[in-house]
Amino acid sequence: MRKIEHIGIAVKSLNESNLLFEKLFGKPPYKQEVVESEGVKTSFFMNGPNKIELLEATNLESPIAKFIEKKGEGIHHIAFDVEDIYKEINRLKDEGFVVLNEIPKKGADNKLVAFLHPKGTNGVLIELCQEIA
Ligand code: ZN
Repeated sequence: MRKIEHIGIAVKSLNESNLLFEKLFGKPPYKQEVVESEGVKTSFFMNGPNKIELLEATNLESPIAKFIEKKGEGIHHIAFDVEDIYKEINRLKDEGFVVLNEIPKKGADNKLVAFLHPKGTNGVLIELCQEIA
């Protein structure tokens, strides 16, 4: 696992939060994207070397809708950049982590992604992501 690739924040309204984070960072998101399979609409901000992903649910079954219902808005996941996501999934499985999707899926921002169950990681949802070449 390499550097933190981004931090994901669950929000109720992407439009409102885009304006808020635009004020915070002094610039607009560089990208907005819907990931239909995940039931999310996302936007991405770069601030220096750091990337922030905002996530809004597109339907009530979305993991983001469920997260906000349970915990409210806030930090939803931390994503780590990995060189070889398949290798990393196998390594973490061997270490006893519960991988939510053992077959990486296409996430936002041109990434292959997999998630670790937060029950095994002190309550923090961990995303592994590998840039699609
Ligand atoms: Zn993410």
